Amino acid sequence: QEDIFKKVISHAKEYGYVFQSSEIYDGLSAVYDYGQNGVELKKNIREYWWKAMVQLNDNIVGLDAAIFMHPTTWKASGHVDAFNDPLIDNKDSKKRYRADVLVEDYVAKIENKIEKEVKKAQKRFGDNFNKTQFLATNQRVVDYQEQVTSILKRLGQSLEKEDLVDVKKLIEELDIACPMSGSKNWTDVKQFNLMFGTKLGANAETAMDLYLRPETAQGIFVNFLNVQKTGRMKIPFGIAQTGKAFRNEIVARQFIFRMREFEQMEMQFFIQPGTQKEWYEKWKENRMKWHLSLGMGEDNYRFHDHEKLAHYADAAADIEFRFPFGFKELEGIHSRTDFDLGSHEEFSGKKLQYFDPELNKNYVPYVLETSIGLDRMFLAVFSNSLQEEELENNTTRTVLKLPAVLAPTKAAILPLVKKDGLPDIAHGIIEDLKWDFNVTYDEKDAVGRRYRRQDANGTPFCITVDHQTKEDNTVTIRHRDSMEQERVAIADLKAIISKAVDM
Ligand code: ATP
Repeated sequence: QEDIFKKVISHAKEYGYVFQSSEIYDGLSAVYDYGQNGVELKKNIREYWWKAMVQLNDNIVGLDAAIFMHPTTWKASGHVDAFNDPLIDNKDSKKRYRADVLVEDYVAKIENKIEKEVKKAQKRFGDNFNKTQFLATNQRVVDYQEQVTSILKRLGQSLEKEDLVDVKKLIEELDIACPMSGSKNWTDVKQFNLMFGTKLGANAETAMDLYLRPETAQGIFVNFLNVQKTGRMKIPFGIAQTGKAFRNEIVARQFIFRMREFEQMEMQFFIQPGTQKEWYEKWKENRMKWHLSLGMGEDNYRFHDHEKLAHYADAAADIEFRFPFGFKELEGIHSRTDFDLGSHEEFSGKKLQYFDPELNKNYVPYVLETSIGLDRMFLAVFSNSLQEEELENNTTRTVLKLPAVLAPTKAAILPLVKKDGLPDIAHGIIEDLKWDFNVTYDEKDAVGRRYRRQDANGTPFCITVDHQTKEDNTVTIRHRDSMEQERVAIADLKAIISKAVDM
């Protein structure tokens, strides 16, 4: 698993998807830059989301709020007081950990162990094997599972040193290697605020302390009435936004899974109080459908319902994805009640209410939120797409099977040889297609090697111009995933590509 993840990171660099920030100065931890291909993939994911949320829903509109906000915003939202992570230090190794992430990592390892037990049994019992039955009758596995569940329940802000000791015991019983084993010298769990501070104004005495926003949602809440009034929006309606957010994350590893500067895609849906259960279920379903529409495998997603809720929520679930390092949160769906708008009313002294003509009364709407990290989605798509394939002739190929709709380059146009007028025809095809799609030209090396290069780059189509093209205006089009080729008219190319890549 670790190997696969390493491959993902090096492939992302080698093909111009993701670079370490400020690499020539040895990088900046948990900050990344997107290269020539990465920027296109990221843009396509953002557009795929925007289309599904804003364009296809006539009651959802967009917004682009500033990163800087009045500092009272973050008092009202609870971030100044409660946006903390539990920290724990190992006095022996002098290493600092985020206590909940540490626990999560070990829980994943324990789950892995359980999975292995299941596989072993499966081998032994063959066709007669029934996983549910096995889990129900195998006391040892049931015990592990119960302990995992109880540890997960205690995850979050209330995590204590004792919880870590519990996990450690379990890990040792199971004989799983971890940095906690053998070390007794831990500090107590401390709380650490994740917001980045900065100053606004040139005069040191009057300068105002600001924060870089740790989430985009608050920009939507403070503009709720602006949008509702000017857009004449009727409840239920939503406001969607994509943009940068900043968190001084303690654990800065796992590549673009957890970054200090990242992009969120959030939607706040304003509803009548009392209808939140229904909308919560609806948005959970909607968002899962969106993920599945990309065809990355149903088995790679699961819901994780939160038992322990944040201060603003009355229900919350994550959509988890199977990353190379296990199932982890990709998106959150939160029923936020009237916490945010109510709190902004209180702190600003301004009414943030809606007159509901149906109920003939004013109220502070409830809010249902969907929140996904664009970079995390990028990692999900990229890592799931990267595959090593054994071919029939005993060679392997590296192929990046990106969903065609998200691929940075939709087609590569390749003249079979660099002469006989074939490059000119290829350039002519590019002139025609480039208004509709990102396309690229490549004439270097044998055509087989060029195919491989495009496979590794994630390009869904290779279009080859050969001598027959001069006779009958046809080309071959090669499909990345099946490697099949067919002969088609140049005039049909646009329709063929559109069918595969249009959002
Ligand atoms: P985590 O538990 O992983 O720290 P969170 O529960 O704090 O995440 P939210 O505050 O609900 O996350 O943020 C919504 C989404 O934003 C997450 O589902 C994730 O996709 C993304 N996200 C949050 N923090 C980061 C980060 N540091 N880097 C990249 N994406 C992030």
